[in-house]
Amino acid sequence: MSEERSATAPESVRRLAITTARVVRRKDHTPDLMTLWLEPTVPFSFKPGQYCTIGLGGVERPYSIVSAPHEPFLELFIELVPTGQLTPRLWRLKEGDEVSLRPRAKGLFTMDMAFRHHLMVATVTGIAPFMSMVRHYLHRGLEGHHFYILHGASYQDELVYDGELTALAQKYPHVLCYVPTISRPQEERNRGWRGQTGRVNTIVEEYIERFELSPHDTLVYLCGHSGMIADVKERLQPKGWRIKEEHYYWPPKPWKPARPSAPHPPPAEILGGGG
Ligand SMILES: Cc1cc2nc3c(=O)[nH]c(=O)nc-3n(C[C@H](O)[C@H](O)[C@H](O)COP(=O)(O)OP(=O)(O)OC[C@H]3O[C@@H](n4cnc5c(N)ncnc54)[C@H](O)[C@@H]3O)c2cc1C
Repeated sequence: MSEERSATAPESVRRLAITTARVVRRKDHTPDLMTLWLEPTVPFSFKPGQYCTIGLGGVERPYSIVSAPHEPFLELFIELVPTGQLTPRLWRLKEGDEVSLRPRAKGLFTMDMAFRHHLMVATVTGIAPFMSMVRHYLHRGLEGHHFYILHGASYQDELVYDGELTALAQKYPHVLCYVPTISRPQEERNRGWRGQTGRVNTIVEEYIERFELSPHDTLVYLCGHSGMIADVKERLQPKGWRIKEEHYYWPPKPWKPARPSAPHPPPAEILGGGG
């Protein structure tokens, strides 16, 4: 609604312009990653893959919704940006506190059921919309589609939904393949890691081959760090892959994606937590 229209709208409509939600649960995974569960004060509907806009003190930001529509609370997976305007305030939230909530979910980053195969690539918190899609799909008992999720992070403890995804992939192998990957295997924080290594954008082509995917019946979804998205697009688009994308942020400094032939790949920290 434009400002002009909202100024003339009845009080009941204007009051709906921003609603609130109560924090019912908070779980800290690392010092800079947490999950919040919010209870909206008015009914809030959304499609899996969409985002909601929350705020504090007038500062608002969009967050993809992790939960599926049938779940009672809005689940959000949030990364702290220490220099950011909103996330340091969110980090002070405790159960019972309130945030503002725009009354409508937004976004077109939803599943396209015209495709049978869904290749989903995420950096850290970019896993959020894919969780909602997978939970929704399994809850509805739908059939005929296959999800392939590649999830990148710098450190294993940032792969927050790996337990749930690994269990679902074991239970529903005909529906879900899940590949977590870490980009800094040599670091102490990743000790004991036995899975895939390398930034997620650099393993996409290898897994496309392993999963025997074809561009004619596969849609590629990219979510999270814009550098990852740009690099995967550069690799796949010339080969005819169709792609949907949800950009969370560009890093403050210019980012150059790593090419296999590049003599000096960009330092891992430029990818943020993003695999
Ligand atoms: C559609 C959409 C969905 C999103 N969903 C999520 C989500 O599910 N979870 C989530 O954590 N974030 C998500 N984001 C990012 C979120 O909206 C905020 O941008 C982020 O939380 C930072 O907000 P801030 O006010 O603290 O920082 P700001 O003051 O807005 O940003 C300060 C600077 O930090 C950079 N920055 C922003 N995010 C990051 C980051 N994660 N790591 C490093 N640098 C960053 C920006 O480039 C900016 O220059 C989403 C963004 C969009 C557009």
